[in-house]
Amino acid sequence: KTQQYFRPTKAMINLQAIQQNVKNLKKFIRPNVQIIAVVKANAYGHGDVAVAQAALEAGATILAVATPDEALHIRAHFEDPDILILGASPVSFAPFAAQQRIMLTVYGSEWVQQAAPLIANEALPLLLHMKVDSGMGRIGIRSEQDLLALYQTIESTDNVELNGIFTHFATADEKDTTYFDQQVQFFESCLAVLPIKPPLVHASNTAASLVKDSNLQYDAVRYGISMYGLSPSSYVESILPFALQPAFSLESELVHVKEIKKGESVGYGATYVAPTDMWIGTLPIGYADGVIRKLGGQEVLIDGQRMTIVGRICMDQCMVALPKAYAIGEKVTLIGQQGQNRISIDEWATKLETINYEIPCMITARVPRIYF
Ligand code: PLP
Repeated sequence: KTQQYFRPTKAMINLQAIQQNVKNLKKFIRPNVQIIAVVKANAYGHGDVAVAQAALEAGATILAVATPDEALHIRAHFEDPDILILGASPVSFAPFAAQQRIMLTVYGSEWVQQAAPLIANEALPLLLHMKVDSGMGRIGIRSEQDLLALYQTIESTDNVELNGIFTHFATADEKDTTYFDQQVQFFESCLAVLPIKPPLVHASNTAASLVKDSNLQYDAVRYGISMYGLSPSSYVESILPFALQPAFSLESELVHVKEIKKGESVGYGATYVAPTDMWIGTLPIGYADGVIRKLGGQEVLIDGQRMTIVGRICMDQCMVALPKAYAIGEKVTLIGQQGQNRISIDEWATKLETINYEIPCMITARVPRIYF
């Protein structure tokens, strides 16, 4: 049953763009390399279930999330596909993972020893991927000896199965490859100590798979940002092998339009003072939706033109300077295209001195995701 929304503020998610991106990525990588669709953080704010469905239809075969709770949410909607949790899971989750065929990331023998009694009587084995910290400094094994010890613990533990080994690159989106090459070298030396390689060796995120050596695609690649139609960095953007289609736009409507006189003010603190008689439009979107106060002064698109947010952004509303009186219900695009003009996620990221990844993630759950 589709929920009805009455506020005109919504994130429009173009699932065809996501499918086209996945199909283009699939064409680009080597045959037989699997696509792991990274749908953590509610699919980077795009909506995990809808994005997972679109990605699977377009050729992804595995879904990756960050947390146990995200994995359970995905499993409740998809019976078949493999699901991998990229982050840490508590030992107490091990039986749930075995029952629901959720693959876990491990990086120490102790975790496996503690989990062993909890899953000994499960009908299905617990599937594990070993994580190598080759330079990200986040989670993972940092020496060949520790890796071999973990491998042997897994091999000697009942009802536990080694399904994969992976690492994550810290600088794959940069032009200089010095640090990247060191990470590759360490990961390769880790692979070399394993008596038998597990079925799924994977290392590359979007940047590594699009602009680095195709040997590093191994058995699978993990696609996040590119699936959503965004580039991991301006360097990767400048050498993309094919165009990416952004899937996320943010829309609202004018709910109030009025003329104010020269010298009258707008918003908390009365910080914006009208320099002349002017038209002001009110939008039903504010910082509780993720349009944070730092976005004051940002432009939006109305009638195909750029107009500026004036005054302080409120919790649920904000105000825009209009060149004339527009009707209530006039469409407002905060992120996306109107006519020839486009306001990109990257434009917001630049204004907020952050990366594009953070922008759709910061649009809160109050904003419905509408799929088309
Ligand atoms: N793999 C891991 C372990 C990650 O943490 C992420 C996202 O940060 C990805 C893959 C996907 O990276 P990207 O969105 O740059 O493709």
